[in-house]
Amino acid sequence: MRLSFHGADRNVTGSCHMVEADGLTVLVDCGLYQGGRELDEENAEDFGFDPAAVDILLLTHAHLDHCGRIPLLVDRGFRGEIIATGATQELARVVMLDAAHLQEEEAERHARHAHRHGEAPPEPLYTKLSALNAMGHFGRTAEYGKPIRLTDRLSATFYDAGHILGSASIRIALDGDKPKSVIFSGDLGSNGHPILRDPQLPPPADAVVMETTYGDRLHKAPVPSVEELFDAVTDTIARGGNVVIPTFALERAQEILYFLREGIENGRLPRGLPVFLDSPMAISATDIFRHHPECYDAEAHALFTEGRDPYALPSIHFTRETEESRALNRLAGGAVILAGSGMCTGGRVRHHLKHNLWREDSSIVFVGYAAKGTLARILVDGARTVKLFGERIPVKARLYTINGFSAHADRDELLAWHGALKPKRTILVHGDEEAMAAFAGQLHGTKVAMPEKGDVIDL
Ligand SMILES: [Zn+2]
Ligand SMILES: [Zn+2]
Repeated sequence: MRLSFHGADRNVTGSCHMVEADGLTVLVDCGLYQGGRELDEENAEDFGFDPAAVDILLLTHAHLDHCGRIPLLVDRGFRGEIIATGATQELARVVMLDAAHLQEEEAERHARHAHRHGEAPPEPLYTKLSALNAMGHFGRTAEYGKPIRLTDRLSATFYDAGHILGSASIRIALDGDKPKSVIFSGDLGSNGHPILRDPQLPPPADAVVMETTYGDRLHKAPVPSVEELFDAVTDTIARGGNVVIPTFALERAQEILYFLREGIENGRLPRGLPVFLDSPMAISATDIFRHHPECYDAEAHALFTEGRDPYALPSIHFTRETEESRALNRLAGGAVILAGSGMCTGGRVRHHLKHNLWREDSSIVFVGYAAKGTLARILVDGARTVKLFGERIPVKARLYTINGFSAHADRDELLAWHGALKPKRTILVHGDEEAMAAFAGQLHGTKVAMPEKGDVIDL
């Protein structure tokens, strides 16, 4: 069994790993690099392998940094089968289409610029048609705990990773006289989150390839974080401002809605609190969440069987249309606005930041991971002014960073997961180099590797 690494190597985004065994070439994830502009070029680069030679793509979950280069893979010759859980298939469709749409928009914008300067117009990384083509490759649906045959001797089993709806760790096993096995952690969730079950532990394997996003950090517990969120909302409403929550469309948006509903039900928040989910993708994702109660934890499942909607608030507004979204810019105050992107790299949240960052009475509440170089990170790090749509905007709003909502396991949770598996070999991916190195220092009794892009490891 041979492993090779083609993304998220000493880096958080762009997950893409390869397993070659029993004559089969299997890819685990094919994600987009996200962050600064220079990553656009990295996304367009050669994959480092021939897409046409890949037989099967196993998709751990629907986040863009795991599925965002699949349309490109198909454009460049991939003709194999994509295997994922049912929820991941549905969510990945929405995510890939949205990404294609953004890339087409961006290319159009650059084309106008290029035209003015007499340059050739740039091509989008891929189009909506490519995303649709990619969807045609979804094959078998993975169910947690049920092995899927890849060849007579090779199988893949998905385990609930507790990270977002439908997310999985994947264990690939080769039977025969020289059995070998490897687990890809995918992104691991944190314990005790609403809606989702805690991460499930796969049976041990010879090697694990694991994420290290928070390999050097501990999270606050979810309960005080929810209280912080309620405080941020009530304080801001009392000051007369708006609460802007940059949010990831998958999971975090639904989780925040879930908490706001609880807050309203238990009287912590005003009953008529106007909440705007200003993200077409988050609205679609919320519908998909409603279709997959089989992924829910006991509490969310109980709500579902009682016929209650975990995401329904008394005064929620779903703003799909751009006009409706623009109207939110005129809100004087008193509203909670959830909009993407979570790291403020694009999307409608940038408009809400433009209209609220300069206001002392408004608040921006960060509830997710902010990668280096992103606007979210620049704000969290304390910038006094930021540039938005060509305008310098002073940062006067109150900023809150609430990290207990993280969809990622923290250092101790990662260590516990790893410790229970006791693999002979540990391969660290999906983390900043510092986080990864710090985490490596905590591991004992296992051979640790931190591959670079293109590295090959024979098991
Ligand atoms: Zn993820
Ligand atoms: Zn990820």
